[in-house]
Amino acid sequence: MAGVASPTAAFPSLEAALKHHFGYDQFRPGQRPVIEAVLKNQDALVIMPTGGGKSLCYQLPGLLKLGVMVVVSPLIALMQDQVDSLTDNGVAATCLNSSLDYNTIRQREADLRAGKIRLLYVSPERLMSPGFFGLLEQLIKTVGVSGFAIDEAHCVSEWGHDFRPEYRQLSVLRERFPQIGVMGLTATATERVRVDIAQQLRLRDPLVQVSSFNRPNLFYEVRPKGRDGYVELRRQVKQHPGSGIIYCLSRKRVDELAQKLTADGESVLPYHAGLSDATRRENQTRFIRDDVRLMVATVAFGMGINKPDVRFVIHYDIPRNIEGYYQESGRAGRDGEPAHCTLYLAYGDVATAEYLISQKPDETEQRIARQQLRQMVDYAETTVCRRRVQLSYFGETLGEALGEYPEGLCHQCDNCTNPPPMEDWTVEAQKFLSCVARCQERFGMAHIIDVLRGSKKQKVMDLRHDQLSTHGIGKDRSVDEWRLLGRSLLHQRLVDETTDGYPVLKLNAASWQVLRKQIAVEVAVPKDFAPGPADASTIEDTPEVAQLLTVLKALRKQLADQQSVPPYVVFPESALRQMARTRPQTPEAFGQVSGVGSRKLDQYGEVFTAAIRQFCADYGLESDPGAARNRSRPVRERRQAVGDTHRHTLDLHRQGLSIQEVADQRGLKPSTIANHLEQLIRHGEAVDMDQLVSADRQRAIVDVLVDMADGTLTEMRDRLGHTFSYEDIRLVRAAWQMAQQP
Ligand code: ADP
Ligand code: ZN
Repeated sequence: MAGVASPTAAFPSLEAALKHHFGYDQFRPGQRPVIEAVLKNQDALVIMPTGGGKSLCYQLPGLLKLGVMVVVSPLIALMQDQVDSLTDNGVAATCLNSSLDYNTIRQREADLRAGKIRLLYVSPERLMSPGFFGLLEQLIKTVGVSGFAIDEAHCVSEWGHDFRPEYRQLSVLRERFPQIGVMGLTATATERVRVDIAQQLRLRDPLVQVSSFNRPNLFYEVRPKGRDGYVELRRQVKQHPGSGIIYCLSRKRVDELAQKLTADGESVLPYHAGLSDATRRENQTRFIRDDVRLMVATVAFGMGINKPDVRFVIHYDIPRNIEGYYQESGRAGRDGEPAHCTLYLAYGDVATAEYLISQKPDETEQRIARQQLRQMVDYAETTVCRRRVQLSYFGETLGEALGEYPEGLCHQCDNCTNPPPMEDWTVEAQKFLSCVARCQERFGMAHIIDVLRGSKKQKVMDLRHDQLSTHGIGKDRSVDEWRLLGRSLLHQRLVDETTDGYPVLKLNAASWQVLRKQIAVEVAVPKDFAPGPADASTIEDTPEVAQLLTVLKALRKQLADQQSVPPYVVFPESALRQMARTRPQTPEAFGQVSGVGSRKLDQYGEVFTAAIRQFCADYGLESDPGAARNRSRPVRERRQAVGDTHRHTLDLHRQGLSIQEVADQRGLKPSTIANHLEQLIRHGEAVDMDQLVSADRQRAIVDVLVDMADGTLTEMRDRLGHTFSYEDIRLVRAAWQMAQQP
């Protein structure tokens, strides 16, 4: 029988066990409750976004409970990576699947029976194969089975995007082995699939852990893809160091772009379904092993690829829908470090996508596809926080209740950090709408623009629209400007468009209000796209840190190649960065680095500290630069001039007014004023902290900050107690982080 070993028997806390086995100091949100449930043999359903840290939810219990944890995973290619990673952490793990020869399988089964294995990865086919249940029964009677973990559990659902019939049979596990706990894990966001998983796997009163789909470390932006789109793209690629994925819509575009980039000296490989299996596998492996920096790919690439340190994902063509975009862009930054997601928008691409949709044979399919594309374009054109739009698509709000995002701004997307200016285009809107009226609401946008711009096209002449009073009244604006206005009117519901496949503009009640001058029209005008933000991780690093990081990465690559494993298996990027900053030169100091567990310390401590000592000697550097430990949370806010409203707040603050008083005087919410002050602090403005938060409280908050630099506000507040407001913490955190900067 599977028994439950109390984790406290060997470790004082679950955190201590986490540090020992995996080297991490804290659990990610949601991990702890799941692990506690699994330790109690309770069923669990774990829904976390990509990079959320699902694996740990069964790996750690697998190590703390007696017996073997059986992990069902559909991705044979990924299994070996997982096993390699675990082995490298000193965990006895192995896998069984159809790609192995008979002798290997026999050997591994013998190891299992001998109790040498703690985690067994198995493909669903193997699990259902004759004799396997016999093996399980034997194990249960002897060494014990600590649980069944079903990874990628959405594969059981026909409603999911990746249904696998073999997964349907997994309900047999519950029938045959009712005493063993079962957990399902997935990154699927839709409710329908979640319900299906619980039913199909016959979960019994499961702990359901649904994490937020917000990925706070990702920066989202949308850029126009003009005629020089390629030049823009190269600039982006140069600006972001580290691995990146560039998605294109077709194989042809992938091949062309990969060739072009290669010719321009970038390190690139292509990936799409037109390449042979062997080539695809090889290209993928070379990308994961950091032999090549960029992958240019169709969406065929990425599902189940475990490369946690992808630093940017670019969509060079518009994706088909938001869910797809979320999953693909979400392959960036799984390690929790800052990463960048850029989407390029060209209306030509939208037109191509629309054309392809119109070629689909099925009407319903067309309608759905068109609606999804429309939502995607809305996302690309929105002038509000992009994170807010994405999360609302998944039925989530922006976590305002948590105090993480006051004002509904995430400060990690282009619209939040650099809002587009609004311009009054009422007169243009009136011209546009009156042209729609003159054309008797029977034409689409392209024709309306032709008439406005005084076109002499055949169609215009045939319809005698050159005779209309609105013909040529809009020559002063370009086609793109009119299109911008037209789209903005649609978004603001100031005009309607038919949706039966032939979009025709129709006036509505609001249109007439505009025409009667009853309402003004404002349009968000995209700025000239100035160079975007530099990669957040490079902003604060001094040259020595950057240089040492390069040295450590080279060492990591060398060690990884020797063992034929991907570099991140040796150490995650965050660990290398922390080493570069703190320059640990003793085993004790090295063991403090987050990501260094006891096994890694034994295995790599010596070579890494030797390299660091050498570096310090070469450059005449001090050993531990002290404060560095406190700086592991990167300061992501960018420097940028603050606006007038912030200045106004600052003036009143300097007159000695409290937050509440400033708020009253300005007719704004106190949280808004606190937010202004936070921004001002981050811009290096002199703000008198003592006037805002009492000295005692500041000290208490700083203590917590030092202790949990990477914690969320919620975690910090839990620690401090509820007499501390989020605003207090945010203000002190901002001041403290600024003080940490060189
Ligand atoms: P998922 O399967 O949910 O996409 P993974 O289990 O692959 O995510 O974890 C993503 C990354 O996060 C991995 O590199 C993993 O080592 C790391 N990770 C998981 N838990 C923690 C933690 N508590 N602290 C730091 N890193 C973690
Ligand atoms: Zn935002």
